[in-house]
Amino acid sequence: MRLSKTPLGTLREDPADADVPSHRLLARAGLIHKIAAGIYSYSPLMWRVIKKIKNIVREELDREGGQEILMPIMQPRELWEESGRWARYVAEGIMFHLKDKRGTEVCLGPTHEEVVTTYAKRVLHSYKQLPVNFYQIQDKFRDEIRPRFGLMRGREFMMKDAYSFDATSKGLDASYDAMKRAYTAIFTRCGLDFRSVQADAGAIGGEGGSEEFMVIAATGEDAILYCPESGYAANVEKAGSRVEPSPDAGEAQALDKRETPNVRTVEQLEEFFDMKAIRMAKTILYNATWVDREETVAVLVRGDLEVNNVKLTNALGALAVTLADEEAIKKATGADVGFAGPIGLPEGTRIIGDKTLRKATNLLTGCCETDYHCLNVNLGRDCPEPEWHDVRTARAGELSPDGKGELVETRGIEVGHIFKLGTVYSEKMEAQFTAESGKLAPFHMGCYGIGVTRTAASAVEQNHDELGIIWPRPIAPFEVVVAVLDAKKNDQVELATKLYDELRATGTDVCFDDRKMSAGAKFKDLELIGFPLRIVVGRKAADGIVEFSTRKDLEKQEISASEAVAAVRG
Ligand code: ATP
Ligand code: MG
Repeated sequence: MRLSKTPLGTLREDPADADVPSHRLLARAGLIHKIAAGIYSYSPLMWRVIKKIKNIVREELDREGGQEILMPIMQPRELWEESGRWARYVAEGIMFHLKDKRGTEVCLGPTHEEVVTTYAKRVLHSYKQLPVNFYQIQDKFRDEIRPRFGLMRGREFMMKDAYSFDATSKGLDASYDAMKRAYTAIFTRCGLDFRSVQADAGAIGGEGGSEEFMVIAATGEDAILYCPESGYAANVEKAGSRVEPSPDAGEAQALDKRETPNVRTVEQLEEFFDMKAIRMAKTILYNATWVDREETVAVLVRGDLEVNNVKLTNALGALAVTLADEEAIKKATGADVGFAGPIGLPEGTRIIGDKTLRKATNLLTGCCETDYHCLNVNLGRDCPEPEWHDVRTARAGELSPDGKGELVETRGIEVGHIFKLGTVYSEKMEAQFTAESGKLAPFHMGCYGIGVTRTAASAVEQNHDELGIIWPRPIAPFEVVVAVLDAKKNDQVELATKLYDELRATGTDVCFDDRKMSAGAKFKDLELIGFPLRIVVGRKAADGIVEFSTRKDLEKQEISASEAVAAVRG
């Protein structure tokens, strides 16, 4: 490609809405063009990046026996009624859906379990045909609440989604492991620093296994906790930990109500009662929503710990939870904010208790009365027995669940997700095959996603400096750029053209910067776009000398043209 023939569209200024490096740099380098919130066009150079990622994905999935298919973007409501997901996705507001002129409802696929299960049910009849893994690479549509960070969270974005079909759960384990191998190979080949972590399995649940592949980056949206000693690693949405056990407070004592004027927070209570937070239970009210209703629920967590919204949402089987506002708190407790407690809540209020409180006795809690708290509260005696769940957030510094060392926190970008679905969809959608026993049985399914466009953005997030992008060589728009310093000088153009032709002829992934412009502006563009290797043909062209540098260190080396060819190909 001659850069004189392609509109690079580089910008001097950062776009106003860009607040992470990948968004800023991809836009400024002219690689992505915003059409609307979360909707982008890709330039010719960017499309090359995406195609390279897609090729790596294809090669590694094919190696593990994946078969590429293509499914429709538009999906009828009926399929989503079969799986029971239509109402939920509509209520969550994540799905784009519309009516055709006959009034039939369709959605733009946010994911493809329904379609692929329907396909599998039609073409897979016997255990002899299993296992099978179908995958596709296609645009997905999600009406994200906050489309942002450029390609990181788009409303139309490219995903590779794969779905495995097995006869047994043991078979599913093997298919899942194969995808794990493929993902490890894919992100390694893309040149990324990544880590696989245990993930929240969400509302679907399935047979248990779920891991995310995280590209490590300070700007990542996800917090990860890992234990260097044992290798345990999990998304904070899912992570467990061992915390100091609740101290033994002895046999249950008589409830003791105390006046606590204006004492509301854990810190204030610690001072007022000269008691550690570990002996208290905080009562936090949440507004939980389901497809068909809303409810205020009370959550009890030890005074020194915090509630994890994702764990709480799963425990309730809800769509979402948000902290109750002042009005809802006053309504539920009849008291001012700061005095909620498990005692005195309206009858029937659901109380979720974090498991760390299960055996604790004689706690200090609120009692739904302004300016009062109670000592010696015993859950189940002074209030209904809570529903016990793990709803607390694990934190750095706590002990890994395996007890082998302390947890450390880092941040990451979720680029891939593998998931054992089990028979959830095949049972709901009656997708069955004839098992070896001769009986009909539901498929054991797995689903596996990779954010293709997000992977490209995460590569930039991880590899850039103040001048621009530093593409990992395997996914760079071109690996090498040959640039003429002064395109009006014949000797420079001649040698550069010769080099370009020679490299191309030997299969090197090279482009030619033959643009007539100032050297300063040219280098700025090239550094912004981030080709990994650069050969500049300049003043010493007549002597056959060129300047070679890598984008990473930008150190220039004067070498002969033939040495430059060898350097690039070596
Ligand atoms: P997130 O938690 O980031 O919203 P998700 O868990 O909903 O993502 P999955 O359904 O697991 O996403 O989709 C598979 C992959 O698709 C993700 O691992 C991610 O790389 C990518 N992806 C998901 N949503 C988006 C989006 N809005 N824009 C770009 N890529 C996305
Ligand atoms: Mg995910």
